[in-house]
Amino acid sequence: MAGTKEQAHETSSNGAATEEHGVAVHNPATGEVIATVPDLGADDIARLAAQGRAAQPGWEAMGFDGRARVMRRAQKWLLDNSERVIDTIMSETGKTWEDAGVLELSYGASAFGFWAKHAEKYLRDHKVRSGSLFVFGKKLKVRYRPLGLIGVIGPWNYPLVNSFGDCIPALAAGNAVILKPSELTPLTSILLAEGLAECGIPEHVFQVATGTGDAGRALVDEVDMIMFTGSTETGRKVAEQAAKRLIPASLELGGKDPMIVLADADLERAANSAVFWSMQNAGQTCISVERVYVEAPVYDEFVDKVVGKVKALRQGDPSGGPGSVDVGTLTSPPQQDIIERHVKDATDKGARVLVGGHAGNGASAWEPTVLVDVDHDMACMTEETFGPTLPIMKVADADEALRLANDSPYGLSGSVFTRDINKGEDVARRVEAGAVCVNDVVINYSALELPFGGWKASGLGSRHGANGIRKYCAQQSILISRFHGKRDPQMFPYKAKMSRNLVRLYRFLWGRGNRG
Ligand code: NAD
Repeated sequence: MAGTKEQAHETSSNGAATEEHGVAVHNPATGEVIATVPDLGADDIARLAAQGRAAQPGWEAMGFDGRARVMRRAQKWLLDNSERVIDTIMSETGKTWEDAGVLELSYGASAFGFWAKHAEKYLRDHKVRSGSLFVFGKKLKVRYRPLGLIGVIGPWNYPLVNSFGDCIPALAAGNAVILKPSELTPLTSILLAEGLAECGIPEHVFQVATGTGDAGRALVDEVDMIMFTGSTETGRKVAEQAAKRLIPASLELGGKDPMIVLADADLERAANSAVFWSMQNAGQTCISVERVYVEAPVYDEFVDKVVGKVKALRQGDPSGGPGSVDVGTLTSPPQQDIIERHVKDATDKGARVLVGGHAGNGASAWEPTVLVDVDHDMACMTEETFGPTLPIMKVADADEALRLANDSPYGLSGSVFTRDINKGEDVARRVEAGAVCVNDVVINYSALELPFGGWKASGLGSRHGANGIRKYCAQQSILISRFHGKRDPQMFPYKAKMSRNLVRLYRFLWGRGNRG
């Protein structure tokens, strides 16, 4: 699908250059155009949808075992081609080798294996017992049937994890899938489509629709369900469009994840975690640490540790390979303006920059930055920054930390650091977010058995766990009546005696006992 081209004519809102017949893909570390991919319109998407629908029944008929064989081959393919996959991810994102190789690759490889193994367990028929009088002696069960054609729309920050990753359970359930990757990072998806084809997925079961937001909009109009990952602003538009068509939409959106450091925390671990999970992937992780609240007695020591560690980070062009830099470049060029605005707004209002604070090395980059003396009047504490910045705020106690942590439109995830595990869990349960770690950050995402999904403006629905695959299916309840008479007591004709007896029976069954 991709070809190379020199010239770009227009630039879309996220920095992608659209040409007359395609979208130019840049290497953000160098600014070079590395490929041009087709900019698909509504007619192209309709054609892909027809092809996907025609291919889906054959894929469903292969059964769990047949599909699992393709998934397991794809798992091996991913590892056999790891250098190519890592190079492709790095070239279109500007990530470090480790951010592509250690984090993205491991997710892809484990997800293929996980869904190959667990799809059947989550989707097989299951019996249901009921307390209803009317179904006494009858057989009740729930079954799941693939919805048919799933649209997956992805962001640019994790082309493998967050664009392609959601396609794996959708496929394992027996659906055909059309993936619309971000216009900034389509090459990884194209490569993975090639990989799946080599592994024997039938033609048109998995298709990649390259293009801008218009291609995304056209996709929502064609599919039976939409899985969207991206900003809250676009997520709202996708939800509205899906609501008009009455198709299900699962939305994984933005975040502003808080970290709470209590006075009894292991400060060395807390500081290492804060620095790593705010700066890895150049801070462009939806569940990165975006703000830290530290109890007053350990605030100075925590800040000193963080500052020392952030000063030691090497930021720059990651093309030197493994170990060459710690923090790569920014994938989306306009991101630099957002980070700059947040840092300037903070310093204008009295915050101090202890490390960094400026554009970094590379065509689009930001120096790892630590901000202190921050508060909730500043954008860096309330809006998603999505860059290598770490604002740290002193708080009196856990209650103040919680009040501030929850003072956010977002609720994606969060973390609490303390040596008192019971207190840690108690604080975690009071954080308004879909996932909270105690003495850890982000790593919950690697446990594919554990649901992941945002609260508030961070999303609707979840990925991983049982719902991570059931959401791609229509749920059907089956009732089978094996032992029955010709006529049930509640049926016509109504007879006063029978009706009164039924109500007496309800009183006997449910109406006795204490009313206090
Ligand atoms: P974005 O919303 O700008 O774009 C996401 C995708 O939507 C792109 O493929 C884009 O082309 C497409 N799109 C744009 N307009 C559309 C429309 N009207 N209809 C359908 N599709 C449309 O997001 P982004 O800038 O690519 O990604 C960064 C955001 O993603 C951040 O907010 C980040 O927090 C979020 N994110 C969330 C998760 C999560 O799991 N919650 C994971 C990764 C990223």
